[in-house]
Amino acid sequence: MDNMQDILRRIPKIDEVLQNQRLVLFYGTTPRSVIVESVRETIDNLRKEILSGNTEGLDNEEALMDEIVDSIIAKKKKTLRRVINATGVVLHTNLGRAQLSKAAAQAVMDIADNYSTLEYDLKKGTRGSRQDIVENIVKKVTGAEAAMVVNNNAAATMIVLASMARGKEVVVSRGELVEIGGSFRIPEVMSESGAILREVGATNKTKVSDYERAYDPELTAAFMKVHTSNFRIIGFTEDVSLPDMVALGREKGVPVIYDMGNGLMVDLQKYGVNEPTVMDALKADPDVILFSGDKLLGGPQGGIIIGKKKYIDQMKKHPLARAFRVDKMTLAALEATFYQYLDMDKAMKEIPTLAMISASREELQDKAADLIRALQEKAPEYEYDTEAVTDQVGGGSAPANYLEGIAVSIRNTGLTAEQMERRLRKAEVPVIARISHEHILLDVRCIKEEEYALVADAVAQTKGGEQ
Ligand SMILES: *Cc1c(COP(=O)(O)O)cnc(C)c1O
Repeated sequence: MDNMQDILRRIPKIDEVLQNQRLVLFYGTTPRSVIVESVRETIDNLRKEILSGNTEGLDNEEALMDEIVDSIIAKKKKTLRRVINATGVVLHTNLGRAQLSKAAAQAVMDIADNYSTLEYDLKKGTRGSRQDIVENIVKKVTGAEAAMVVNNNAAATMIVLASMARGKEVVVSRGELVEIGGSFRIPEVMSESGAILREVGATNKTKVSDYERAYDPELTAAFMKVHTSNFRIIGFTEDVSLPDMVALGREKGVPVIYDMGNGLMVDLQKYGVNEPTVMDALKADPDVILFSGDKLLGGPQGGIIIGKKKYIDQMKKHPLARAFRVDKMTLAALEATFYQYLDMDKAMKEIPTLAMISASREELQDKAADLIRALQEKAPEYEYDTEAVTDQVGGGSAPANYLEGIAVSIRNTGLTAEQMERRLRKAEVPVIARISHEHILLDVRCIKEEEYALVADAVAQTKGGEQ
């Protein structure tokens, strides 16, 4: 038997391994430091194995190089990666909320690696304002008097309150003091903005008289209504409608703010989604309305503020406007998304969020049949069937509205549903699936036609082995 020193000397040297033909292929596309790190780690592991008495890996160049190549490929994977959403939750908060339309994505591409008219007026050849970019199209689509855009609806809430109510009171119903998630709570945002929260009513009931009693000519800066987009109180309840609140505001000479959250531009009632639309809100004529860009609007993350010019002009001049301003890529995506709303029928088909929510039963059945065909081709040993499921709008929108969905079930895999789910997440393009009691479900609503082959690849790579 060789002594340990001789054995260790047979471990390849890093510099030699770096010359290996299989690694040369990576040099054009991979930082050298990444390659060196993979080689060093793999050789270190081999040394540890040998020292612990396992000499199997020694003199097996093929296996060593396989391991190094796998390690480089793993290191090259980005942290923010594309996945396929097979959960049936359209605005999945963990999976990026709204998907951009093709037109919006293309607009981002055109602007991202070129110069643009971000703050340049082409007609005059002088400095322009980035706020004009979206303001024009938002005004055109919604009919609002003025508009501005900030980073998200949380930022919109903050700047609206800071510019309209700093040091003064904002009257809000106790039934609307919502937490949106991730530490965004109306009372906390309010205090950060410098406005003073004046709670009225009870959790389940608030009446016009409650707002009226809270009104103080010296202290009241605004009445605010918050759409309780992510929960419902049912039973013995009452709240004040937006038109009634606006009427009271007019009577007292106090502006009315409406935080509506979802930004829905088309009535989706016939698809089972009972959420107020931006147009409905505008009809009630509150002074300021705010909503998210990436909920039911179906655009990029953003906070859109529309309403009376007098107030919006103040917000544009507020110091927070600079802190909360959005990037050119967001503006490009948002302008393109709003542009699509000039043709509502096309918007329903081309804005993915709306198309997914409004998909008919027949469309979903056809999708399931096509997906099963793709699956049978690449993973014929498994059995596939369709199953009726309940889908969700998600993203804290329409909590009480469920959509009838269809999923493809995968059976006879020899794996538990949990094992299968884990393996699907490890695919080249990971598939995020649903688990039923004893099998895995691929909900077809949010899977695009061009993704069927990728889903089939992911399912095919779950076969065999222990993981
Ligand atoms: C979602 C939501 C927010 C927060 O919006 P973001 O764009 O996620 O910051 C605020 N208010 C309401 C009513 C919401 O539904």
